[in-house]
Amino acid sequence: MALSDVDLINISQFLISLMMTVVFLLAWRIMEKKTYVLMWSLFYVFAAVNGILNAINDLFPDRNLYWVVVNGVSLLTQALALAGFRMRAGRRPFPPMIMAYFLLVELLVVVFTYWQPHMGLRMVFIPFSGAVVVFAIVREIARTESRLRTAEISAMVLFALYAVVQLTSGTLALLQGAARNEHWLSLYSQVNFLFMPAFFAGLGLFTLLILVDDLASKLKHQAITDYLTGLLNRRGFKQQAEALIQQQDKLGKNLAVIVADIDHFKKINDQYGHQVGDEVLKEVSMWMNKLLLPPSVMGRTGGEEFAVVVPVADLKEAGQLAEHLRLQLSEQSHKTNAKLRITGSFGVALIHDQLESALIQADHAMYQAKAQGRDRVVLAA
Ligand code: GH3
Ligand code: MG
Ligand code: MG
Repeated sequence: MALSDVDLINISQFLISLMMTVVFLLAWRIMEKKTYVLMWSLFYVFAAVNGILNAINDLFPDRNLYWVVVNGVSLLTQALALAGFRMRAGRRPFPPMIMAYFLLVELLVVVFTYWQPHMGLRMVFIPFSGAVVVFAIVREIARTESRLRTAEISAMVLFALYAVVQLTSGTLALLQGAARNEHWLSLYSQVNFLFMPAFFAGLGLFTLLILVDDLASKLKHQAITDYLTGLLNRRGFKQQAEALIQQQDKLGKNLAVIVADIDHFKKINDQYGHQVGDEVLKEVSMWMNKLLLPPSVMGRTGGEEFAVVVPVADLKEAGQLAEHLRLQLSEQSHKTNAKLRITGSFGVALIHDQLESALIQADHAMYQAKAQGRDRVVLAA
């Protein structure tokens, strides 16, 4: 038995899909077992089934049955790919509207295959639906809350190109009209089969790139975030404070650093337990953070120590802001224990050019505030 060119492409599509199924299964295991990665693995399972069905289409007793089945499988792959990207964006994978859409498309295929046989129409729905789904996927990628990253943008471009191919091959099939037309059919086949294996591999690779990028940015975020309060940790605070210092010329203002240390925090731990201590740290972060406007940078720089970099006119204004923060702390009451009074000591210094030296000065001032009786603000000389 000699294999036709189209058979060869279908078999290669099958093999690529099989490999991608395994790749995404492994990616699922490696990358925190996110369900949407399983969706993409399933997408490739059915893409493999699709390749096999295409390759063995001669074995079907009935051409119409073959056509309806293979199109149903194609629609399933479209639904799974979209579901994966919807889940990644934090949305429901299979809302009724979307399910109804896929059922409607399959129904149209059935209608123009059995009841109103029409060659162009029965062939056009799958590629056109493919284009619609790919654009829906592009929209889901664009929906993520953070700024679009390079991996996302490159995937969106590739996906959009694939949509153009689908629209083109669908249009060529449609141009046949009601009866089979070898000229348009052959053009359709060439466009469809020329690009299919490359795009099926490409879609997987670019999707994988998005996964890698998701993981990398999550790790980067964790590396600069304090797990308890959600504020920047010491490392993140320094990074972002330095970035703010770089922008200082644009801001046209001075920058000041305020260091705050909770008073007698050890006593709170000793008296009420470590858990209450943790709660207090979270509350203090929240209370202070609420009073700060962008582009200020705040971080938890030590156990019960916080630091803020703020744009100000001068040291006096920075002192007023620190005073504001101090009052906020002393006036707030702990949510589970109203008797628990929390105060802090504050040190303030202007940043001349080095963050590090300003931090040392502010720290020094903060220790003076401790020595003078705590719950106060001291400005660096
Ligand atoms: P001072 O007024 O002089 O600053 O006294 P203090 O007790 O606040 O300062 P000290 O440095 O003696 O103690 C700080 C305490 O903070 C000791 C440590 O157990 C506690 N601490 C540090 N990190 C955490 C944390 O993440 N959770 C809790 N519950 N306690 C913490
Ligand atoms: Mg303290
Ligand atoms: Mg301390």
